[in-house]
Amino acid sequence: MTVLSFGIVDAAVFLDRDNTLIHNDGDLGDPDEVRLKDGVAEGLKALRVAGYRLVVITNQGGVARGRYTEADVDAVNQRIATEVEQATKQRPLIDRFYYCPYHPEGDVEEYRRDHPWRKPHPGMLLQAARDLDIDLGASWVIGDQPRDVQAGRTAGCRTIVLSADEQMIRESKPTASAAEFAGAVQVILKQTADERPLPNGAAAHASGPKTMPRAKKRAATATAAAANPMPSDSMEQVRRTMIELTEELRTTRQRKAEFTPLKMAAGICQLLALLFALLGLLQLSNSTALMSWVGFAILMQMFTVTLLLVDQRS
Ligand SMILES: [Mg+2]
Repeated sequence: MTVLSFGIVDAAVFLDRDNTLIHNDGDLGDPDEVRLKDGVAEGLKALRVAGYRLVVITNQGGVARGRYTEADVDAVNQRIATEVEQATKQRPLIDRFYYCPYHPEGDVEEYRRDHPWRKPHPGMLLQAARDLDIDLGASWVIGDQPRDVQAGRTAGCRTIVLSADEQMIRESKPTASAAEFAGAVQVILKQTADERPLPNGAAAHASGPKTMPRAKKRAATATAAAANPMPSDSMEQVRRTMIELTEELRTTRQRKAEFTPLKMAAGICQLLALLFALLGLLQLSNSTALMSWVGFAILMQMFTVTLLLVDQRS
């Protein structure tokens, strides 16, 4: 049976892992402790049958804290894929796993930093969109935390938070909420059915379908190309690029605002450069002293620039 026989072919459901697909209230690095949540295997199969790609996006800051390794994360992810496939008798079901091992307060220096992949940043979704040719505007995110919602919203996806906490739901502003995974699946399937084009070509939804089969999409793109100088695929590419640039700018600003010892050393060098230049100006009548102070000032300025460059690349 082919599961991509109709419906959406380039939309995805992005899935948070811990407490969305599996039970996990702590740091999980042992595949033998993997337990799927109720309704997950059946829900994933239903989404797949509706034509969605299934992509797991998970923060794994436990790697940065030294609780487990990236190999452990891979082992847990593999066990999840295997259990889902055994439960549904369908293989493969989950298209890909993305995880972010970094954490700004990690204990392992190699992983101690913020990262564009770390939710609430949308980096994993943007990478998946590039890797798998996913239309983010036609995709959904399911997760149990506000950071899942924020990452999805920033990437331009619709979002469902798994929670009964009304205050959290109100503050995180998802597209919808559900108490259980099966409820989230029902929301997506209903919305998909509402937006799917009718057989006679009329749209079932007043604003038109969000997605269409790839063949129809190509035909529509070709028809629209004459009237629209920018095809919809190019528009999607431009939109993705704009999101990436905005996010890059935001994370760069955050990094610049972070205090580091190298920045402090650069600041001290800069002050010394100014001081030496001033001392030189006070000795204009003594050319030897003037040249010495100016030389020191230039040296300090070079130190300043070097320290800032090293800080930026670290
Ligand atoms: Mg979670």
